[in-house]
Amino acid sequence: MPNNWTSYTGACHCGAVKISLKSTRTPQDIGARACQCSFCRLHGASWASDPTGELQIDTQGHALLYKMGTRSAEFVICANCGVASAATWICDDGRSLAVFRAECMEERSNFLSCTTTTDFSDETPELRFARRSRTWTPLLFMSK
Ligand SMILES: [Zn+2]
Repeated sequence: MPNNWTSYTGACHCGAVKISLKSTRTPQDIGARACQCSFCRLHGASWASDPTGELQIDTQGHALLYKMGTRSAEFVICANCGVASAATWICDDGRSLAVFRAECMEERSNFLSCTTTTDFSDETPELRFARRSRTWTPLLFMSK
């Protein structure tokens, strides 16, 4: 890992699902997106991602994977505590990408201090996949 990278860690409520982001950016610069879709509103979820960073998800066997909408992305939900902590997606070019919950991170207040409200409900699948491929974080590793 280059020495100007910082590691940011987080977890679901019970701690079974662990998130680790390596990034050269600050949480304030990465920010968070308060998605207005029905699933995210039910969870009060704000999502963060860094396309220049690297994400790892360790589920320790506790993940339920939930698909909705275009059924292309999978929400990572802890089977023990019920918290959705990440969403993953495989791009057309084969890359695994992900977003993570700002609320799950130890530095949540810094991520959430720069939150924008997003509504992607009018997006076509093509636009949605192009946006994800630009903005989501490369997923280095996810344990099932
Ligand atoms: Zn949990």
